Amino acid sequence: MIVKPRIRGFICTTAHPTGCKANVDEQIAYTRDQGEISEGEFKNVLVLGCSGGYGLACRIVSAFGCGANTLGVSFEKLPTESKTATAGWYNNAAFEDAAEAAGLYAKTIDGDAFADEMRERVIDTIKADLGKIDLVVYSLASPVRQHPRTGELHRSSIKPLGDALNIKSVHVDRGEVIEVDLEPATPEETANTVAVMGGEDWEFWMDALLEADVLAQGCKTVAFTYIGTELTWPIYWDGTLGQAKIDLDRASGEIGRKLEALGGDSRVAVLKAIVSQASSAIPVVPLYVALLFKVMKEQGIHEDVIAHIHRMFATQLKGGSELRLDDAGRIRMDDIELSDPVQEEVKRRWPQVATENLDELGDLTGFREDFLKIFGFGLDGVDYEADVDPTLGRLS
Ligand code: NAD
Repeated sequence: MIVKPRIRGFICTTAHPTGCKANVDEQIAYTRDQGEISEGEFKNVLVLGCSGGYGLACRIVSAFGCGANTLGVSFEKLPTESKTATAGWYNNAAFEDAAEAAGLYAKTIDGDAFADEMRERVIDTIKADLGKIDLVVYSLASPVRQHPRTGELHRSSIKPLGDALNIKSVHVDRGEVIEVDLEPATPEETANTVAVMGGEDWEFWMDALLEADVLAQGCKTVAFTYIGTELTWPIYWDGTLGQAKIDLDRASGEIGRKLEALGGDSRVAVLKAIVSQASSAIPVVPLYVALLFKVMKEQGIHEDVIAHIHRMFATQLKGGSELRLDDAGRIRMDDIELSDPVQEEVKRRWPQVATENLDELGDLTGFREDFLKIFGFGLDGVDYEADVDPTLGRLS
């Protein structure tokens, strides 16, 4: 079939098999070009949320920058003869092929990472194939979580706390700067968001892995957060998502204490804003990202997902790194995004930006390109008129 992008709100319901592979290959090529980060330090890496965004980049840098065997977990929709799979399914396939060709173990388990059965499957696989894990990357981003112990289905809400909020945003499809009204979250909505995006599930994972004795001496674990500035605080850090991320900080402290016996370490890393499936759904963020990208590109300091994660491994996760920590013990990777020259310019443009000058002050084109790229569209060298098999011949 010939695959075209079909965009519905914040997601694209189609994904291009060859384009997704090209996207993964580009990230692998970038990583290889940078040379080896560390040999033998991360032998076996578990990536929860491995199929897109930051998790995929971590898996690529682990394998092609550190020579690691990787076990990944993600939640995908399988293809049929007439329907494409989720982009993550193609990304996983492309990653596994490339890793195997490089002589690296790579296995992906598709299913619900919030479920206890998934933890059992992962532990069985580690025992059978890998022995012990040196690094656990927790990079899940989901709107729902079925609690494994209570069975309750929690849905997250992206809302402010306290007062209703009227705030600038952008309608990405129409390219219009708009104002959005957001009602404050109820205590129940806040609690549900913490249940989905907070730290409990990360703790469940680390407890299960510790109990099964599948973590190596000195094992590290990292999960990701975003803090941003006063432009995004009303909807992010001061809202329901911020409450969930505060809970992630709490969980990191707990996990860190439990890892002490192994000489291990647990960190939350504060990453920069990027275009991902998860971040595109947050009001305000696309407008902020459009301005941020324009300013960072103008200043010659723009980092894409793979460059950002490569820098995290090379300067912060690698043994012996001088950690750039904040008062809460988080790794700060958002130093360039939050640097004065960048933020002063973004804040100067924020009150001025309107539909008419959006292209001049912001990089909505870059935002849209990155968004389509997530689904395998717009990559150089891909023939988008060619007939492709959405199943990659793997389902027969
Ligand atoms: P993403 O949407 O690109 O990827 C999420 C991953 O989680 C995918 O692999 C998906 O398959 C997997 N997943 C979701 N639900 C699952 C489930 N039930 N079981 C198994 N796998 C599941 O997300 P992202 O933007 O890379 O976000 C990852 C983390 O980074 C999040 O904690 C996010 O808050 C954080 N972060 C993101 C940004 C940003 O700008 N995107 C910035 C800073 C921090």
